[in-house]
Amino acid sequence: MDRPPALMPIRAHTDRIYDIKCCIRPFRSKGFNLGVEQIGDAMVIHNYGHHGSGWCLSWGSADMQVQKAMSKSPKKIAVIGSGIIGLTSALVAQRAGLDVTIYTRELLPRTRSYRANGVWGPGTVALADEAPANLGEVWEQMVRTSWKYLRPYMGMAGNPVAWVDHYALSDTPFDAPPPPLPPMANGVERPVFYDMGNRASDIDSKPQVLTPDVNPFPVPYATRATKLFWNFSEYGHLLTQEFYSAGGKIVMRDFHSPSELAHLPEKVIINCPGYAAHDWWKDKAMIPVRGQTEWMIPQPEVNYGFTYRNVECRSKSDGVMVIAVGPGQFAKSWRNSNETPDRAEAEGAVRVVEELMSRFSGRPA
Ligand SMILES: Cc1cc2nc3c(=O)[nH]c(=O)nc-3n(C[C@H](O)[C@H](O)[C@H](O)COP(=O)(O)OP(=O)(O)OC[C@H]3O[C@@H](n4cnc5c(N)ncnc54)[C@H](O)[C@@H]3O)c2cc1C
Repeated sequence: MDRPPALMPIRAHTDRIYDIKCCIRPFRSKGFNLGVEQIGDAMVIHNYGHHGSGWCLSWGSADMQVQKAMSKSPKKIAVIGSGIIGLTSALVAQRAGLDVTIYTRELLPRTRSYRANGVWGPGTVALADEAPANLGEVWEQMVRTSWKYLRPYMGMAGNPVAWVDHYALSDTPFDAPPPPLPPMANGVERPVFYDMGNRASDIDSKPQVLTPDVNPFPVPYATRATKLFWNFSEYGHLLTQEFYSAGGKIVMRDFHSPSELAHLPEKVIINCPGYAAHDWWKDKAMIPVRGQTEWMIPQPEVNYGFTYRNVECRSKSDGVMVIAVGPGQFAKSWRNSNETPDRAEAEGAVRVVEELMSRFSGRPA
């Protein structure tokens, strides 16, 4: 086993929180919508509902939906939305030789996509009893295609896509029975998710158990896995620049009814509204799953992340990101569309990191 390198301390204090981002994961009970429908003389190809995996699935999903668009041999297409799904759909279409106009009410830095965690780890996207029979195969193809598309973005200046060691830390043995699940908030029913099983697990790195002699943390149990993650500023800037330099156009526009799409000059449209499909497309299969990340002042010298006591922490180029995770957090987030940042939640998560750091004598070693 490689001995972990010396770890720089994370300066975790609540007065270093400079941003709290809150948003909804676009969960769709029937799985992502990749359907095609006709609105007037426009062919609308849907591409939304990627739950907590949109960053991971984006390129693969875009690739599939652009192939559908190509069946009409269009010269130009429209893409609705400029989140990570819209932007990658636009880029894949450009690479296929099409003129692309994005119509959107927000640019990427203001979208929900920008308020995510942004780490590789594609997960479930549907409820077990509503998922289509082929969901697993489609999902796996998406994952594998996305992975290939990401390859050229690795090793670029500014690390738009980066790798970092991530430690899972525990006070109890990893094979100890888990505590009982907390009750769901507001009496909502606990969902049963479609299980992706081991599909595409060969892509993800396997956690190594750290023996006490190499465990650098003042916590008895630790594993380490190297994780891929996105630095949103660099990656977002790069994708947007790529789009403009290939001749792409962006039109700021807010659609209120699907029928408005029939009036666009482009007759092939890839629709990527994320959770907003719930309202403007009246897609009642969309279920909100609240999420919040807290951002402390960047520490470029910190090059690791960890999960401990239901808090995940990761050092990114634009800040040290902290997010509450785990069953208790999920119980509060499911079917919760409240996008108001919760300062108490943010401070609670940062205090877990602060307390862990305070146990190191001097610098973590
Ligand atoms: C806390 C949190 C952590 C997450 N962590 C991860 C992670 O680690 N890895 C991962 O892969 N995924 C993660 N996700 C999930 C991921 O962020 C989403 O799946 C993804 O952002 C969805 O992207 P999107 O482009 O579909 O939607 P959005 O980002 O919401 O983009 C929708 C776009 O459509 C536009 N739009 C919508 N309606 C209209 C309209 N009526 N008219 C005009 N424009 C419209 C919007 O302006 C926007 O540009 C996380 C999400 C959250 C909340």
